Amino acid sequence: MKPLKIKIVSFKKGVHPRDDGKSLSRSSAIRTAPLLERYQVIVGQNIGLPPRVVVKAGEEVKKGQLLAEPSGFVSAALHSPTSGKIEGIIDIPGPMGIPAEAISILADGKDEWGELPPPLDWQTVSGETLKARIQECGIVGMGGAAFPSHVKLSPPPEKKVDCMIINGAECEPYLTADHRVMLEETEKVLLGAAILGKAAGVKNTVVAIEVNKADAIEALLARSGEYRVGVVGMKVQYPQGAEKQLIYAVTGRKVPTGGLPADVGCIVQNVGTAVAVADAVTGGVPLIERVTTITGEPVVTPGNWRLKVGTPVVEALKLAGGVKRDPGKLILGGPMMGFAQRSTDVPVMKNTSGILLLDKAAISQYQASPCIRCGRCVDGCAMQLLPSPLSCMIEADRFQDAYENNVMDCIECGSCSFACPARRPIVQQIRRAKAEIRNSLNHKKK
Ligand code: SF4
Ligand code: SF4
Repeated sequence: MKPLKIKIVSFKKGVHPRDDGKSLSRSSAIRTAPLLERYQVIVGQNIGLPPRVVVKAGEEVKKGQLLAEPSGFVSAALHSPTSGKIEGIIDIPGPMGIPAEAISILADGKDEWGELPPPLDWQTVSGETLKARIQECGIVGMGGAAFPSHVKLSPPPEKKVDCMIINGAECEPYLTADHRVMLEETEKVLLGAAILGKAAGVKNTVVAIEVNKADAIEALLARSGEYRVGVVGMKVQYPQGAEKQLIYAVTGRKVPTGGLPADVGCIVQNVGTAVAVADAVTGGVPLIERVTTITGEPVVTPGNWRLKVGTPVVEALKLAGGVKRDPGKLILGGPMMGFAQRSTDVPVMKNTSGILLLDKAAISQYQASPCIRCGRCVDGCAMQLLPSPLSCMIEADRFQDAYENNVMDCIECGSCSFACPARRPIVQQIRRAKAEIRNSLNHKKK
């Protein structure tokens, strides 16, 4: 392999999983899933307020037609993934383990587009027009958080934002969807990046990629000059793609405790989001499908698939040939920060980067044991926290002490649990402490 002719940056600390599982699917070109009979689109897919449903059972819909309108500024529109009839508004298994309201659509097999907003000339229209289109097309962060993109692009006027970072780190083990998107849809990634930069009014836009995706870096570098977008390489280190770590690696700026990227002049968007933005602006296309990695050792043919939002996981797994053996765990997203699922009826959402099956043997069957004070969790913590003392404080329900030791700064990356030889469930304990502290703070406000 030729050495890369770009700057390679990183944050401090973190972990490096030895076998990242990416070889299962990284060479698999993106394939488009065939049309299904039925899609079930979860209404509350974005951070913020769920949108308001505007269709009724029995109504005919076209592909791309509005199903639910934003119910506030921090809310994202929802559109039909295909043409057909609304079967009903029903409760289905949700990704957080509780039932979720969903719009069930019986496809008519035509996959016929409805009327879409007209293409925009992104270079001549205003940033406000671009943001309005991004909102109209229901675009959210597709890397995991599902934060409405138009909100991220609208920081308070007192925050001077000068840098747009397109996150192509894809540091989670097993996931390769963003890698394939950068390789196969290079021009759209760059176009979307340039549009996002213009919408935010920034001069510097860069795509930041871990160097284990050298082919994608080469592809982006070959075209980046046309779009005035920079390309930055990053060391392979988990959690390189977490917002605070990414910003530090690319700019050297540190997001303060409790702060947001805009506090240090940055906005971060995912590569999939950049593609969705390019489609929305140049074609009026709403966010109704995404590229998802279907993978894991039990999967017959791991790969990367373009799936419509609302595709049940059970159908997605059939595309990958089903399973060779009973899996131990189903996860939406990656193994470090994804969410374990109880049901394969849960559908793909705008932020479903991966559908991962893990073998029973790959899941820790060991009991947690007392801390041996090895310090590996401290060495691995990208937020420079002290996970082992925090874990002990939380075990003793000393939440005030945990708060004073900055537990709220934890980004829940899971590096500490990953590194711990005593198999201590540190990240789970931290999640519990954060929830307790939030509850107690909310209680005091009332
Ligand atoms: S304490 Fe939080 S931020 Fe630090 S390694 Fe553990 S999960 Fe990640
Ligand atoms: S890695 Fe585990 S055993 Fe080692 S100090 Fe941290 S909590 Fe203790």
